[in-house]
Amino acid sequence: TPLSHIRNFSIVAHIDHGKSTLADRLIQMTDTVAERDMKDQLLDSMDIERERGITIKANTVRIDYTADDGQQYVLNLIDTPGHVDFSYEVSRSMRAVEGSLLVVDSTQGVEAQTLANVYQAIEADHELIPVLNKIDLPASDLDRVAEQIEEVIGIDASGAIPVSAKTGQGIRETLQAIVDHLPAPTGDRDAPLKAMLVDSKYDPYLGVVVLVRIMDGVLKKGDKIRMMQTGATYGVDRIGVFRPAMTVVDELGPGEIGFITASIKQVRDTRVGDTITHEKKQCAEPLPGFKPSIPVVFCGLFPVDSSEFESLRDAIEKLALNDASFSFEMENSAALGFGFRCGFLGLLHLEVIRDRIEREYDIELITTAPSVVYHVYMKDGSMEELHNPADMPDLTLVDHVEEPRIKATILVPDDFLGDVLKLCQDRRGIQEDLTYAGSRAMVVYDLPLNEVVFDFYDRLKSVTKGYASFDYEITGYRQDNLVKMQLLVNDEPVDALSMMVHRDRAEMRGRAMCEKLKGLIPRHMFKIPIQAAIGGKVIARETLSAMRKDVTAKCYGGDATRKKKLLEKQKAGKKKMRQFGKVDIPQEAFISALKMD
Ligand code: GDP
Ligand code: MG
Repeated sequence: TPLSHIRNFSIVAHIDHGKSTLADRLIQMTDTVAERDMKDQLLDSMDIERERGITIKANTVRIDYTADDGQQYVLNLIDTPGHVDFSYEVSRSMRAVEGSLLVVDSTQGVEAQTLANVYQAIEADHELIPVLNKIDLPASDLDRVAEQIEEVIGIDASGAIPVSAKTGQGIRETLQAIVDHLPAPTGDRDAPLKAMLVDSKYDPYLGVVVLVRIMDGVLKKGDKIRMMQTGATYGVDRIGVFRPAMTVVDELGPGEIGFITASIKQVRDTRVGDTITHEKKQCAEPLPGFKPSIPVVFCGLFPVDSSEFESLRDAIEKLALNDASFSFEMENSAALGFGFRCGFLGLLHLEVIRDRIEREYDIELITTAPSVVYHVYMKDGSMEELHNPADMPDLTLVDHVEEPRIKATILVPDDFLGDVLKLCQDRRGIQEDLTYAGSRAMVVYDLPLNEVVFDFYDRLKSVTKGYASFDYEITGYRQDNLVKMQLLVNDEPVDALSMMVHRDRAEMRGRAMCEKLKGLIPRHMFKIPIQAAIGGKVIARETLSAMRKDVTAKCYGGDATRKKKLLEKQKAGKKKMRQFGKVDIPQEAFISALKMD
C-alpha cells in the first residue's frame, strides 16, 4: 500500500465512554469481520478485561475502507490500554500512530482519563478528531460537551462528529474523517529497517507475537533482526497483520503496522518501545523515549493453604510469561510461610494478576499490604531500595528515607469539592492547582504514592458518590519522616502487617489498625493483646477478651444435627485462617486492617 493510502490511529477516551463499542462498529461497517464472527468488544479478548472494561495489551486491527473518492485506504487502529498503570505502554502505542479519535460521552463530558489520554496524544503530535458519542441518549448535550472540549482541552471542536456507537449513526462520517483529516505516515522504503516494538503477547502455539510499526525500510520473512535495546537477534518466522485474526502477509513496509513471530520464548525477552532493525544493515539510531518498565507497587502473595505453594509458583510463572512488567521472587515469611514478593505497575495491575490467579488457577491467596518502593539512605552513604517494610534496616543505621510522590488530577462536580480537598489533605497532599470548567472543578495535588495505593480511589468514589474521576503520574522521590510500624498479635510481630507510615500519622493509623484487627480476629480461649509499635515502642493497644461460652451452648435441647452443622460451619470458616503463634487470623484481616475510614 502506498503511504498516501495508509492512516494509523488510536482512540482516546475515558472508561465507559464507548471506545470498544466504537471500535466494534468501525470494524463492522467496513466488513472487516464476517457478520457471523462479529461479537461485542471484539478487541478486548481476555475475559477479565471484558468484565472490568479494561484493556491491558495493545490490540490492533487493520480495516480496509473505500473512501468517498472511490479509492481503497488501509486504516490501522491500535487500541491501547486506557488505565494510568499502563501509561508508558500507552505512550509507545501513541508514537506508533499519527492521529486519534477523541471520544467523549456526550451525556457526561470530559473526565480525568480523557485528559490524561489526550495529553499523551498531543505529546505524540497527533492530529485529533473529536467524536461525541451516545447521541441516541436523551441526556446527550452536544453543545455543552463541544464547548467543554474547547475550554478544557483547548482544541477546536466545531467539526466534532456526533456519533452513536450503539445505533451506528455517524460511523461512516468518522471513517471518512480519518481519511480526510489524519496525516498519512511518512517513511523511507530504501533506508535501513527501523521498526518500533509496540507490544507483545504470548500465544501457546506461536510463542511470542510481537506487534510492530515500521518507520523505515522493509521487513520480510526470513530476515535476521536485532532488538537494539536488548541486543538479542532473531530470525523472523512469520509476518502478518491483524484483521483482527492473524493473517500472514509477505512483507511490511514503511507506515505499516503488523506482527512478527521469531521463536521468542517469553514476553520478558521483548521490551515495549525497543527498536527493531536488521542485523546486517542496522539503522543509525534507536527510536527515542525507550524506558524499561519498573514495578512501583509491591505486595506478598501467599497461598491460604500452604500445600498449594507449588501450584502458585506455576500460576505466577505462567502469568509472567505474558507480562514483562510483573516481577516476582520467592519470599519466606515467619507468619505466612512460603510465598512470593511481587511487583506491579500499579494497584489495578496488582488486582488483575491477583484475580487471575484466584479465578483461572483456583488458588486462594493472602495478599499482604501493598507497599511502594522506598529509598532508604544509610548512614554510610549507601542507598537501599526497600520493597518490603519487613526488611527495613535497623533505625540506628538509617540516615533518612525517601518516598515516591505523584501528581494527581481529580475532576469533580462543585458539590463534592470540599470532601475531595479534605480527603487529599488527610492523605498528606499539597494542593498545586484548582480550576473550574463549568460546574466542575479540576484539582491537582502532589501526594505521596503510599497514601494512594491502598484505598484512595475507593474513598474518592465513595465521598463523591462516583462522580469524581482520577488520574495520576509519578513525579519523583522526596524525603519525609517515615518509620516502620509493626503489629504485634499476642506479643508476636506479624510481618505481613508491617507498614511504612509517616511519623505524625503513626498513632492514628496504629490505633485504627488495632481496633480493626480486634474486630476481625475471632475470640480465642485466652485473652489476646493487639499492639502497634515503632522500633519496640508500643504506640497503640487493644485487647481481645477471651471467649467465655462454648459456641454450641445456645443449641439447647440437644439438637444434634444443628450442633454438628454449627461445628462444621466453624471448621469451614477456619480454613480461611492462618495461624500466628497460637492465634488464628482470618485471611481478609490483612487487607481490611489496612483500610482507613
Ligand atoms: P469503553 O470503556 O470506552 O471501551 O466503553 P464501552 O464501549 O465498553 O461502552 C461502555 C458502555 O456504554 C457499554 O454499556 C456500551 O454498550 C455503552 N455505549 C457505548 N456507546 C454507546 C452509544 O452510542 N449509545 C448508548 N446508548 N450506549 C453506548
Ligand atoms: Mg473498552
